[in-house]
Amino acid sequence: MVIAYNFNISLEDYAARGINNAFPRINRCPHCRGMVNLLRHGFYWRNAIEGEKLYRIPVCRLRCPSCNKTVSLLPDFLIPYFQYTVSTILDRLRSSFIDRVIIGQRQLTAFYQKRYIKQLNQVEMFFRDYGFREPLPTGSKEKAIKLLEMILALGKATFVRRSTGHFIGNFMAN
Ligand SMILES: [Zn+2]
Repeated sequence: MVIAYNFNISLEDYAARGINNAFPRINRCPHCRGMVNLLRHGFYWRNAIEGEKLYRIPVCRLRCPSCNKTVSLLPDFLIPYFQYTVSTILDRLRSSFIDRVIIGQRQLTAFYQKRYIKQLNQVEMFFRDYGFREPLPTGSKEKAIKLLEMILALGKATFVRRSTGHFIGNFMAN
């Protein structure tokens, strides 16, 4: 299981600190719900790209002494299975939908657009749950742009953190 965790630092700082980041103690197992201290269980290393800059970063793994299952603490500037940071993905969406400019690989941007459009209803539900009452445009592209503007206004990191649980899997995940 992957848990999004807010380390409150940038990817650059997280990468620089590496395995010396302030990894939290977790005393409740998300698998078995047991009130137990999860044990440190090493790291795995993965790529993370912000803009055009590639970092190799450790992801802390924990293991439950009770059920033996593992949990990974993914910094919340990342989405599971995506190398690019949330910030970069949202920037690409903004450039293509709002500024109408494609930055970087066209194919990758098209992929992000498709994933994002597929999740529009879930993004809408998220904002509805936070009390947004205005009607949204009916065209999917217009709706995509409006919701993207709302995500950017809320703040990229805040959106990702608060939206956990609103998406089946994660934001942008299948
Ligand atoms: Zn457990």
